[in-house]
Amino acid sequence: MRPIYLIASFLLILQIARPVEAAPVNVVTTTEDLAAIAKEVGGERVEVESLAKGVQDPHFIEAKPSFMLKLARADLFVQVGLELEQAWVGPLLLGARNGKIRSGAPGFVDASRGITALEVPTEPIDRSAGDVHLQGNPHIWLDPMNGKQIARNIAEGLKRVDPKGAAEYDRNLAGFSTRIDAALSRWQEKMKPFEGAKVITYHNSWPYFLKRFGLVAAGYIEPKPGIPSSTSHMRELIALIPREQVKGILMEPYFSDQAPKFLAEKTGAKVVPLPPSVSASAGVNDYFELFDHLTNRLAEALR
Ligand SMILES: [Zn+2]
Repeated sequence: MRPIYLIASFLLILQIARPVEAAPVNVVTTTEDLAAIAKEVGGERVEVESLAKGVQDPHFIEAKPSFMLKLARADLFVQVGLELEQAWVGPLLLGARNGKIRSGAPGFVDASRGITALEVPTEPIDRSAGDVHLQGNPHIWLDPMNGKQIARNIAEGLKRVDPKGAAEYDRNLAGFSTRIDAALSRWQEKMKPFEGAKVITYHNSWPYFLKRFGLVAAGYIEPKPGIPSSTSHMRELIALIPREQVKGILMEPYFSDQAPKFLAEKTGAKVVPLPPSVSASAGVNDYFELFDHLTNRLAEALR
């Protein structure tokens, strides 16, 4: 036998010998937060990969050819939805030509399903309003209660594509939800002294987080989502910060710190760099560590 045939038959034997259950379910998510939750729910049965990294702005991800290959091999695809990834996910899904994960197929999960979106526009809007999402604010994962619903949506998707794992997925989901409930009371306890505190945020990424933890957005560095600040808008913010007694200027790591620093110098408010996603900061490796980090960081900064 020539070596090449030897290898081929050896591989064949390996494949036959390998129990079907051992092949992990291949999950591809758009963001690290979804990947973190998918790992919690999928446990040992899944292999999870995120296309965007936590340090990247999830609205604007470069659609690499390698992403298409990952999607072509995926058993389950999970997106945040509410148009967050609209600019880059559609072309990738088309290019991947994977019927298992196209919109509406069993392997497609929209993580926002069943979540009540905040800031759904009530009037018709056009592009002059900025990068406004017509279905509401898409930064849903920043409320741990939404994290539970996202986990439910992912569990349903996993059960569709891997029904043999149903009991395990249900068990993992229940465990995750219980741990979220316990952690949430801990996080809320930590944030309690700052109830009603006003902050400025860079992009409008935090409405779910602020609402859950009792903080108030007094303004945004972006006058409209996705639109850079103007001189007149900065002047308004400089007046607003002392008037509203703003304590901190929250900033995602992927924005330039120029405008926040300028505001801080002019007003004495503090710039608070905050990772809006898992893996966007050192020590933030899962969904629980994300909220540990956010609440610790804010409690320190707002004190
Ligand atoms: Zn946004």
